[in-house]
Amino acid sequence: MIPPETIQQVAEATDIVKLIGRDVALKKTGATYTGLCFSHPEKTPSLVVTPARQRFKCFGCGVTGDAFDYGCLAWGLPFVDIRSTASTDGALGCTRPIRA
Ligand SMILES: [Zn+2]
Repeated sequence: MIPPETIQQVAEATDIVKLIGRDVALKKTGATYTGLCFSHPEKTPSLVVTPARQRFKCFGCGVTGDAFDYGCLAWGLPFVDIRSTASTDGALGCTRPIRA
């Protein structure tokens, strides 16, 4: 069982733009980044990543969440190992519900 404060620390150390940027070519548009959605096929970018809030949202299919949700959704892993993407050690359980 991973303590909530550890998850919080990893979340704060994780750069969601870098995380999603590993899979998706993100383009900076003002305070946000846009790219092709990882969750549904599309030709026009509707995935918006907001670094200030460390969240993503797709205006095409409605998928949304934070770095952990992304790991669950995009990689489909029961556990997300954040080590390769953040400076903090830890494997996080993929147990958080997807918020609409
Ligand atoms: Zn989408």
